[in-house]
Amino acid sequence: MRDRRTIIIKSPQLRKIRNGLRDILLTAVRLEWKKIFDEMNKISRYSDGTKKSVKNMSLTEEAHFRRLQNKQSKLRNIADRSICKCITCGKGDRDMTYNKAYDSWYCTEC
Ligand SMILES: [Zn+2]
Repeated sequence: MRDRRTIIIKSPQLRKIRNGLRDILLTAVRLEWKKIFDEMNKISRYSDGTKKSVKNMSLTEEAHFRRLQNKQSKLRNIADRSICKCITCGKGDRDMTYNKAYDSWYCTEC
């Protein structure tokens, strides 16, 4: 791939389909992120519901918690750098330009 590549869709119908597909993908990412968040929340609570800090977790719990944190971080990073949304303004309904130097997609207005 070249250093920069812009993908422009002129047809309003195709733009609508593109935007819809981006929404579906980003919604799937949000749902997965939330699932991981809920699992982390379970680990970081005592049975009475009070918050348990990482230093009070068992080694197994902490390792699991850290794995989930990494998973969440990777998921966010993949979504942020995808063509589904501009890494600067977060809009997902625009034509995008890939910038190899930053390994990210930017909308044509940013
Ligand atoms: Zn933008």
